[in-house]
Amino acid sequence: MTDPAMRLPAEPPFDPDAIPSTIVLAAGGRALRLTWAGGSAATLGAEALRLGCRCAWCTRDRIQGRFPAGFEAVTVTQVAPLGGYALHLGFSDGHARGIYPFAYLRDLAREARATEPTPRAA
Ligand SMILES: [Zn+2]
Repeated sequence: MTDPAMRLPAEPPFDPDAIPSTIVLAAGGRALRLTWAGGSAATLGAEALRLGCRCAWCTRDRIQGRFPAGFEAVTVTQVAPLGGYALHLGFSDGHARGIYPFAYLRDLAREARATEPTPRAA
């Protein structure tokens, strides 16, 4: 029996160029500074990262309209690489279920540059 879903993808399931060259927790955990080999860099605020959590619990809360509009004074308390394609982040509000693929972090960085030329948490 051949299940097409079990076949390995021909390409890695992530963009290798999205992997940051450095990841630094900054401003007492209120920001994550990322740089990429291509020379781009970004500072992502802890609140923006917390708001951007895509875990099943946060996704459910969004669907049910219970996801908070903000996480004032939240900090990143835990940064761990995961599987070579993502970061596992923990936050000071006790939430530590978020998986942030590097490609997603790069997208957030682009959004941050587009909407916030001067990052608040820098
Ligand atoms: Zn979450």
